[in-house]
Amino acid sequence: MTTVAQALQEAAALGVDRFDAQLLLAEVLGLGEREARAWLRAHDTDLLDEPQRQRFRALLQRRRAGEPVAYLLGRKEFHGLMLQVGPDVLVPRPDTEVLVDWALEVLKGWSAPRVLDLGTGSGAIALALARGRPDADVTVVDLSPRALQVALSNATRLGLALRGLQGSWWQALPGGEAPFDLVVSNPPYIAEDDPHLADLAHEPRLALTSGPDGLDAIRAIIAGAAPHLRAGAWLLLEHGHDQADAVQALLRQAGFEAVDSRCDLAGHRRCTGGAWPAHRPAASESRSA
Ligand code: GLN
Repeated sequence: MTTVAQALQEAAALGVDRFDAQLLLAEVLGLGEREARAWLRAHDTDLLDEPQRQRFRALLQRRRAGEPVAYLLGRKEFHGLMLQVGPDVLVPRPDTEVLVDWALEVLKGWSAPRVLDLGTGSGAIALALARGRPDADVTVVDLSPRALQVALSNATRLGLALRGLQGSWWQALPGGEAPFDLVVSNPPYIAEDDPHLADLAHEPRLALTSGPDGLDAIRAIIAGAAPHLRAGAWLLLEHGHDQADAVQALLRQAGFEAVDSRCDLAGHRRCTGGAWPAHRPAASESRSA
C-alpha cells in the first residue's frame, strides 16, 4: 500500500511539478479540484489502493513525457467555464482571457451582436463570449473537423449556442453571410522553427505554427476581414509576445482605426485589435460601386 505522502514523493522523484502531481492524484482519488490541495495536505497518511496507485503512476509517466495536465484530466477551466479538451485542440491559456475581457468590453455598445471566432479550437473564447452575452449570435470556424466537434460538444454540455463552420478562416463562411460586429481569433502564431515548440509537442501543430515568422494566419485574417465587418466592428487578435508592433502595422495598413494592444498576465502585449471605420465602405462594397 502507498500513502498520499509517498505517492507525492514518488511524483517529486520523477521530477513532476508538485501542483501537477496534486491535480493528478486528486483525479485518481475522485476528489474535486478545488478542495483537493487542502484535502491532500490533511490526509498524508491515507492509503491509495493498488489500482489507484497504478493509475497515478501511469499519469505521472505521461506528464513526465510532456503531456499537458489538461489532456491527462480531459478538461481545463477557462474564464470560469469548465471545458473538455483533448489532443485535437490547443489547451486554453489563462492569457487568452485578456482577449475575452476586451471583447466583452467592445460588445457593450451592441445589442444582439453577431460574433465570429476564427480558429476556435475547444471553443474557449466563443463559449466565454456566449455566456457573457446571451443575446449574441456566435459563429465558430475551425479548419479541423475534430476541433470543431470538441467546440460544439462543449457548447452542448454547457448549454450555450454556437454555430460551427468547418474551413480555412473566412473561406468557411457561406456566400451572402451578413457582416459581423466582432471577430476574435487566437490563431496559430509561432514561427515554424521556434525552439519553444519542443515544449508544445503534444498540442496540434495546426493550432500553433504559421509560416516562417508566425504571422501567416494573422496576415490572412486581416487581409480578408473587410467584407465581413460591419461599420464600427472590431477585430481582436491574440499573437506572440513580440508581435504587437507587426500586428498593429498590419491592421493600420488594412484601414483599421483605434488600433491598440493589451497585455497578458506576464505583462507582454499579447492581444491587438482595431475598429473597422464607420465612414469607410468595406472592400466588397467599394468594388461593386
Ligand atoms: N500561447 C501559446 C504558446 O505560446 C500559443 C498559442 C497559439 O499559437 N495561438 O504557448
